[in-house]
Amino acid sequence: MTKAANTALVLGGGFAGLSAALSLALDGVQVTLLEQLGEVGGKAGEFAQEGFRFDLGPSVWTLPELVTDLFRQAGETPPEFVPLSPLCRYLYPSGRVWDVSLDPEKTTAQLSEQEASVYLRLVAEARTLYEAAAPTFLFGQSPGLKELMRYGMAGGLRAHPGKRLPALLRHFGAAGDLETFFLRFATYFGADPYRAPAVLHNIAWVELGKGVFYPVGGIKGVVRQLRELAQRLGVKICTGVTVERLRTSAGRVTQVETDAGVFSAEVVVSSLDLIRTYRLLGRKATAEGLEPSLSGFVLLLGLDGKTPGLTHHNISFPNDYRAEFAAVGRGELPADPTLYVSISSRTETGDAPPGCENWFVLANAPALSEKRPMDWDVTGPRYAEHLLGVLARRGLDVRGRVRVQQMFTPAYLGRLAHRGAIYGAAPHSLLQTLRPKQTVRGVRNLVLAGGTVHPGGGIPLALLSGKHAAELAVTRL
Ligand SMILES: Cc1cc2nc3c(=O)[nH]c(=O)nc-3n(C[C@H](O)[C@H](O)[C@H](O)COP(=O)(O)OP(=O)(O)OC[C@H]3O[C@@H](n4cnc5c(N)ncnc54)[C@H](O)[C@@H]3O)c2cc1C
Repeated sequence: MTKAANTALVLGGGFAGLSAALSLALDGVQVTLLEQLGEVGGKAGEFAQEGFRFDLGPSVWTLPELVTDLFRQAGETPPEFVPLSPLCRYLYPSGRVWDVSLDPEKTTAQLSEQEASVYLRLVAEARTLYEAAAPTFLFGQSPGLKELMRYGMAGGLRAHPGKRLPALLRHFGAAGDLETFFLRFATYFGADPYRAPAVLHNIAWVELGKGVFYPVGGIKGVVRQLRELAQRLGVKICTGVTVERLRTSAGRVTQVETDAGVFSAEVVVSSLDLIRTYRLLGRKATAEGLEPSLSGFVLLLGLDGKTPGLTHHNISFPNDYRAEFAAVGRGELPADPTLYVSISSRTETGDAPPGCENWFVLANAPALSEKRPMDWDVTGPRYAEHLLGVLARRGLDVRGRVRVQQMFTPAYLGRLAHRGAIYGAAPHSLLQTLRPKQTVRGVRNLVLAGGTVHPGGGIPLALLSGKHAAELAVTRL
């Protein structure tokens, strides 16, 4: 008689849930994935109108090997990733334009001699920090005391404990434009750069040392390929199913109650926001008392004509970068924010009608607050108009060229994550850069995945968290 396959339920179908489902299926586990939305992808959403296509969540793809490996393990052809050059164009209020690429010579040729030396030293420092931290904090299971001590002895002191990111940058001589440039990477982990610990400088290496890629077919294209691969491996994907409660008995999840009935399996991997998972268990997560990470305000613009002076990824800095985060810290939408403009049609021409382009504009925003609720039906359109004005003042007046306009506010993100915070709790101390563990005390067959737990947010880390969760789940079968 053949042994029946082990069973797993995966809750949530973002990158973490898909990665967990695939890794479990590759291990021979029979997987059912439950997703509340009508399709998988989570924060990696998509919007299309009048011949324009937009990825409406993540757009900067780093470490593509983390997703291509999943396809290779299944013996299938992975999605195609195009390396971008420049990685990103930086536009400063002074009118300075800086193209940053993987080639340090090309990048530093646009800087003064003094700036070039600071740039190279800071990139080298980011590499040192990344290479010391990655084996323990990214590629391994959530570190215990032993791993933390090993890291502390080997590289921990070089991680500048007790120092904040701005102090580290100043120590290396970064000022002005270069300081703003290096500060920004901490926002990729949801931090206010002025309050971020120095160790978050390691994030810069991932982009500046390893590159930025565009997946042919867009970010959502990869989601579709992951979904199809999962289905070919036998994963049952149930969309439009909202998990309402996790019932436990004798230290195990015995029933997953949803609006479409009750599900059960030997192990459950929840890739929902950590706080949401705890609430479904009827518990309060420690993270609930912590300050949330950044949220975002997204403006999608389908434009007539092509804009000179822009490339695929562009970042336009404000006059006062510090004031932007001070506003976010007060729970306000910043009046003069950094604007990230990503135009995928520069690489994927089919994303816009001929002679047009698709702009994804992202501004940092505070997480939703019960104490200071905003009426997004009123505030959203007003802020979208405001951002069009900010762009115009920065020499990017597109107001006469808009064919399609759509916004996604923090309230939209609030459907996907607690308070619409993109990265869980704000990593404003060394301890908080350590993301919550992927296990839940007292519930043996429940494992956590996703951007709010170890190793953290962003596509590569969410994929890793799914892989780690699957490994943990298998040990619990
Ligand atoms: C605007 C924006 C820009 C970003 N830019 C980048 C970028 O450029 N590069 C990068 O690497 N990362 C970026 N990120 C971060 C990245 O998108 C996320 O870290 C990653 O997608 C998180 O994946 P996840 O699977 O952990 O979570 P999610 O994608 O949020 O998936 C969780 C899933 O759970 C589902 N769910 C929630 N509650 C329930 C329930 N009760 N029942 C059933 N299902 C439920 C949700 O619908 C969702 O599909 C960005 C994010 C945003 C929002």
